Amino acid sequence: MNDQKVKGRLQEASERVKNFEEVEFGYNDEEALQEASRCLQCKNPRCMTGCPVSIEIPNFIHAIKEGNIKEAYEIISRSSSLPAVCGRVCPQEKQCEAMCVKGLKGEAISIGSLERYVADQAILNNFSAELPKKKNGKKVAIVGSGPAGLTCAGDLAKAGYDVTVYEVLHKAGGVLTYGIPEFRLPKSIVQKEVDSLKKLGVEVLCDVPIGNALTIPDLQKKYDAIFLGTGAGLPKFMGIEGENANQVFSANEILTRINLMGAYKDDSKTPIKKVKTAYVIGGGNVAMDAVRSLKRLGVDAHIMYRRSMDELPARLMEVEHAKDEGIVFDLLKNPVKILTDDNNNVIGMEVVEMELSEAGEDGRKQVVEKKDSLHTVECDMVVMALGTSPNHEALKMSNIELSDRGLIVVEGSKTSLDKVYAGGDAVTGAATVILAMEAGKKAAKEIMEKLS
Ligand SMILES: Cc1cc2nc3c(=O)[nH]c(=O)nc-3n(C[C@H](O)[C@H](O)[C@H](O)COP(=O)(O)OP(=O)(O)OC[C@H]3O[C@@H](n4cnc5c(N)ncnc54)[C@H](O)[C@@H]3O)c2cc1C
Repeated sequence: MNDQKVKGRLQEASERVKNFEEVEFGYNDEEALQEASRCLQCKNPRCMTGCPVSIEIPNFIHAIKEGNIKEAYEIISRSSSLPAVCGRVCPQEKQCEAMCVKGLKGEAISIGSLERYVADQAILNNFSAELPKKKNGKKVAIVGSGPAGLTCAGDLAKAGYDVTVYEVLHKAGGVLTYGIPEFRLPKSIVQKEVDSLKKLGVEVLCDVPIGNALTIPDLQKKYDAIFLGTGAGLPKFMGIEGENANQVFSANEILTRINLMGAYKDDSKTPIKKVKTAYVIGGGNVAMDAVRSLKRLGVDAHIMYRRSMDELPARLMEVEHAKDEGIVFDLLKNPVKILTDDNNNVIGMEVVEMELSEAGEDGRKQVVEKKDSLHTVECDMVVMALGTSPNHEALKMSNIELSDRGLIVVEGSKTSLDKVYAGGDAVTGAATVILAMEAGKKAAKEIMEKLS
């Protein structure tokens, strides 16, 4: 029994497809205590080596065991500004939990669920993180309020810097707000995390696009340092015929409309047209979020992915949840043309079947088109979830160095521009929340070293 983790409780699949409420309930006190009691409190905790922001995992779990949740929160907050977010969306199974020794003979400790428990208790009980040190008079601008920008802001504010975050959208949080759906990460939780940064003195200015009225050279004049955490929000398309039809979207647009603009509500100013059948093209986490969101709008929602279930890049847990919710997986298939009616509305797709070759020297199977497999499927919406690249609106008027892939080039966290640092998806390409946070932390440290 002790080898198995305490399972989290979920909203029933048949119920949750009708709402946008959180799928997982999170541990209650008893469950958290029981799970925390499984921790072996290793002297050399391998789990910590799997955490990009080095949370003192055994220490916070020990504090839960002792019933001291405030202390557990203080321990986590020393390393992370966004614990309620990370507890929900970090791929722990590939990070801290993958390193947990309990996993050698049974199931790893559910570190993510315990982190979420502590963070949720902190919100409920109004615990506050470390107070900022006395102001040091130095000013830092952060461009972008995603996890990279917010983490950088939090660490600098705690150290006494005057921090202003500039965000182009009307709400802060980056992908946490406009991308990841409410049923995985409630927006009130993201807002609470942003509010705790504001309590530390961070100023968050929304609706301010850097690169237009206010440029990087303007910020260079006004601030002692600038951090660019502008993400990778520019969607990719396939370049097939019919892609400019009505009801062809990028996953980012569908998710932004649903999460940020409430497009599923009847009184929405930017509604999504009610459709019968939608295909989401792609197999990553973004595809799962888009398809599960559409299902909740009452759509017959399909994933179309050109490889097989074994190669599906999305988190296993998300795939399992999607299957339980009735998402149809059309695997080893690829669209080659989007079919439209006279009004340029989507009416279907021409699709080919694909085959996987034997694995090559690099271990990767090639995917090739199956002969004579062209056929048609009917649908009235197509959503492309094929990855994203950085949008460089912010970089206008600056001659910052970019890589061949259009990523900001950094040495450590420093860009080619005076006083300008960068991190997160804008530097690495689309990655994860915790890696963006790690980059934000690293940049904050470098900025402090430079300015002290
Ligand atoms: C749908 C979706 C689901 C995901 N699910 C997960 C998950 O479950 N787990 C996980 O770990 N990762 C997930 N990811 C990836 C993760 O969210 C990103 O890697 C992470 O958010 C990157 O953080 P960031 O701070 O670099 O950029 P972002 O979160 O993209 O934030 C960048 C911010 O900069 C702002 N900005 C851009 N240009 C300007 C400008 N010119 N002026 C002002 N502001 C600007 C943007 O509006 C945005 O708010 C997901 C991504 C998507 C799209």
